[in-house]
Amino acid sequence: MSILVAGGAGYIGSHMVKQLVESGEEVVVADNLSTGHKKAINPKAKFYYGDIRDRAFLDRIFVNEDITAVVHFAAFSIVPESMQEPLKYFDNNTGGMITLLEAMRDFKVKYIVFSSTAATYGIPETMPIKETDPQQPINPYGLSKLMMEKMMAWADEAYGIKFVALRYFNVAGAAADGTIGEDHGPETHLVPIIMQVAQGKRAELSIFGDDYNTPDGTNVRDYVHVMDLADAHILALKYLEAGNPSNAFNLGSSTGFSNKEMLEAAREVTGQEIPAKIAPRRPGDPDSLVAASDKAREVLNWQPKYDDVHDIIATAWQWHSTHPKGYDDRN
Ligand code: UDP
Repeated sequence: MSILVAGGAGYIGSHMVKQLVESGEEVVVADNLSTGHKKAINPKAKFYYGDIRDRAFLDRIFVNEDITAVVHFAAFSIVPESMQEPLKYFDNNTGGMITLLEAMRDFKVKYIVFSSTAATYGIPETMPIKETDPQQPINPYGLSKLMMEKMMAWADEAYGIKFVALRYFNVAGAAADGTIGEDHGPETHLVPIIMQVAQGKRAELSIFGDDYNTPDGTNVRDYVHVMDLADAHILALKYLEAGNPSNAFNLGSSTGFSNKEMLEAAREVTGQEIPAKIAPRRPGDPDSLVAASDKAREVLNWQPKYDDVHDIIATAWQWHSTHPKGYDDRN
């Protein structure tokens, strides 16, 4: 019996694979390596190279392996890119989900844990954001994931495939043992970009806008550690295996940090100057996104271990400072 991790070579997927393997599970990874890294896949997992939109590829996995549940990370996730190339997102993310659910239906795989996002909420009417709040995405990325959530709900109705949608807020950090971490090319996310400036690989941080409706004018986000996120997926798998109904949970720390506060925290953690300037707004950014995460804590019994953003940044700094070229300089 194995768990299929679609997108297990990516940033969050690879941390999930590590956590599953270390908890004694048999893990199969499916990844097209479009954004992931082969070196990020735990060597104890079995790797299939291919695309989840390719039904023959999925069939090969489901025929060869005894898959009992799928954890689905295989999606594009860059908000600004989705504004420029929306169809790329609807094709890979939304389209990929159709093929995956069809294969799951045909091979009678009953459980899926899905990487959803706070971007499905759009501009929240109240803060912190609850799971029952309206989902009105303001960018194609968020819409592509909302459509995936809705497809899973109908696949549950029709075929009895049970799902948990985990709506991530801002994920950061790296495995505490320093073996894997975040490596996107090109990098667009705040924490790794700050780390690159701290390393001297970039001249300065551009803070995208300081005229938002927030206390210091810069966007406020809710940062959660990647290993805490992996823990939540394992709890979600157990929740489904226990026969519970499909459900959705926010995963955040419930504390918001502005971009300027993140910069300050990184300066403290790294001891580096980290030059920064204010730049124009980036399209598609809501003012603030902070999760109400009581539901995951109560229903899944999720207990995040990293509740201080400095500790999250410290694990990111450990990874970046020991792997200045990401996965490229590992032997
Ligand atoms: N951000 C920034 N400069 C950068 C990268 C990101 O000011 O070089 C800001 C971005 O506008 C947003 C926050 O950092 O307010 C988090 O962005 P990120 O891309 O990390 O995650 P997202 O919120 O898009 O999932």
